[in-house]
Amino acid sequence: MTSSESTKICRDTCKSKCCKSTPPALTSEDLTRISNVFMMKKEEFANKKTKWFFVKKRENSSDCYFLSDEGECKIYTSRPLDCQLFPILFKIKKVDSSYVIKWYIWYCPLTDFFTPKYLIEKAKKIIVSYLEKNPKILFEYQSAMYETGGYKRKHFLFAEKLP
Ligand code: SF4
Ligand code: SF4
Repeated sequence: MTSSESTKICRDTCKSKCCKSTPPALTSEDLTRISNVFMMKKEEFANKKTKWFFVKKRENSSDCYFLSDEGECKIYTSRPLDCQLFPILFKIKKVDSSYVIKWYIWYCPLTDFFTPKYLIEKAKKIIVSYLEKNPKILFEYQSAMYETGGYKRKHFLFAEKLP
């Protein structure tokens, strides 16, 4: 899937529904990256809940702070991990020297076009890169998801061990 294909489906077919509902979770790395790339203080675009940060909504709107009037993500190449993976979600557990990843999916227009297997392979590349450089970020994502009920009504697919 190219980013332009999925962007088109999200914008034109789905009308960016997930960018107009639950705000994406922000890991500490997301916060730093978005702040640095767009030279913004985190208070400008993020809200803290009990412990974790989430992207703010636009004023008087349920839209994500970064959603343009045309229905596109204004920070697409720097978007949060949560958005990079969606409609795939994961849970992570350390077992000995490996990690067990449980894969979940949210069925949406994108999953009418691309198989779960394809979407998970794409998500796995992202997860593996974090496992190599900073696994702590993946646990931050998971904690934030639990805090907001992000796993509710998602469908479990399968679990696998990653090195
Ligand atoms: S990921 Fe799914 S729910 Fe979100 S905008 Fe794209 S098609 Fe819609
Ligand atoms: S950051 Fe971008 S992709 Fe993520 S919810 Fe906001 S507009 Fe959508």
